[in-house]
Formats: sequence, C-alpha cells, structure tokens
Amino acid sequence: MTRPAYKRILLKLSGEVLMGEGGLAIDPAVTARVAGEIADAKAQGFELCIVVGGGNIFRGLAAAAKGFERATADYMGMLATVMNALAVQNALEQIGIDTRVQSAIPMASVCEPFIRRRAERHLEKGRVVIFAAGVGSPFFTTDSGAALRAAEMKCDALFKGTSVDGVYNADPKKVPGAVRYDRVSYSTVLADDLKVMDASAIALCRDSNIPIVVFNIREQGNLAKVLAGEGVATVVHSQES
Ligand code: UDP
Repeated sequence: MTRPAYKRILLKLSGEVLMGEGGLAIDPAVTARVAGEIADAKAQGFELCIVVGGGNIFRGLAAAAKGFERATADYMGMLATVMNALAVQNALEQIGIDTRVQSAIPMASVCEPFIRRRAERHLEKGRVVIFAAGVGSPFFTTDSGAALRAAEMKCDALFKGTSVDGVYNADPKKVPGAVRYDRVSYSTVLADDLKVMDASAIALCRDSNIPIVVFNIREQGNLAKVLAGEGVATVVHSQES
C-alpha cells in the first residue's frame, strides 16, 4: 500500500508498548527497541513529535472503578505518562537522538512545560519532542492529548502504534473472521464505535483533517515501513475508498 508522504508526524505510543514479558512496567530492553525504531524513523527525515501514554503504570478509570476519586486517579495517570516520557527520552539519548520532554503539567525540575512555539523551535533544530501528561486535565486520555498536540503542532498525520495491525470491523481477538480496513472514515469509526482512539480524539483529528495511521509497533521495523507508506496499517481519513 502506498500512502502520501508526510513531513511532520506525531507518534502516539501507548504505555503498554514499553512493557516486557516479565511484567516490568518499563522494560529497559523493550524501551531501547522502541527507541531504535524511533531513531530509524528519524533517519528517514521526519520531524517527530511523540505522545506517550501511562496505561502500563496507572489508569485513572480503572483506579476509579476500585474506589479512587476519579480526578485524583487521573492526575496519577498523567504523572505516569511523565515517567514513561523520561524513559523514552533516556533510551533515545543513549543512542544519540536529541530530545526534549514537555509536560502539560509544569514540573520545572524534571522537564520543560508545554510551550508550543518552543516545541516548534526544537523540531526545527531536529530534536524529537516528547509530550507528557496528556492534555493536562483529568477526564481525558493521552489519545486526546495526541490529537490535540498533532493539531497544535500542525502534524501531517498521527501514527498510533498498537499491538494490532490496524482497525478491524470487530475485535479480531474475540471475533473470528473480523475484517481489517485499509482505509476507513472518521464517521464510520465514530458511528460503529470502532476501537481506534476515544471519540474526542477522533473528532479532533476529523475537525483538523489529520489522518490517523494505526499500525503494529511490536513488529520489528514496522514503524519505519509504515512511515515510508509500506507495510500493513489502517488509515482513518475523511473519505472512504
Ligand atoms: N490522563 C488524564 N488526562 C490526560 C491524559 C491522561 O487524566 O489528558 C490519565 C488517565 O487517567 C489515563 C492515564 O492518565 O488513564 C494514562 O493515560 P492513557 O490511559 O491514555 O495511557 P495509554 O492507554 O495510552 O497507555
């Protein structure tokens, strides 16, 4: 499959992407492998923004279901994303990739606060910018954070790295014969409640006309492939074809 060439992209990594087999929330070897994939993508000449989730450490909704007050639990989840951002930064720096972490919740001793124009300058200088703490408010997810940053930073596309190879018409792990889309419209995703990202993230991408490319990041070398317009992925777009 060939896809349009993009210059600036936002890569959304779920927290679970950093987890290893042994149950470590942040597995150094796995994180190093992900960093290697990002370095390969960088070498292709893309300007790269990254948003990391926190689900490998703490999810607000799950904690709220067990009795936590929701807003507090969500703030804890956002702090988890900062830990993941630092882990990704560390792994990237170890292989010589210049990075900055910007957090939606200011924490001056740890990383920069989110400042759009400053992030812009980092990208111009060839740095990878990692955005942490989602949108900085409870009751949101890092998918919404990814869509928001992609829109603000004028990214050409949002690449969502998951553990499946695209968007299916039903859960492929539960429904035998579920069919994978090559392309699917934002409206179908919303109307059929397809599990891509949460509805507010999809709507934001639709309103800013940012295509969402869903692909399997666990497959070695796949990020570079899908960025080059090859490999298996689903593109969520404004028109179906
Ligand atoms: N979170 C939040 N606001 C945001 C982003 C994240 O409250 O803007 C909290 C929320 O509790 C969420 C947790 O941080 O469950 C971890 O983020 P997410 O579930 O999106 O991580 P992922 O599933 O991508 O690993």
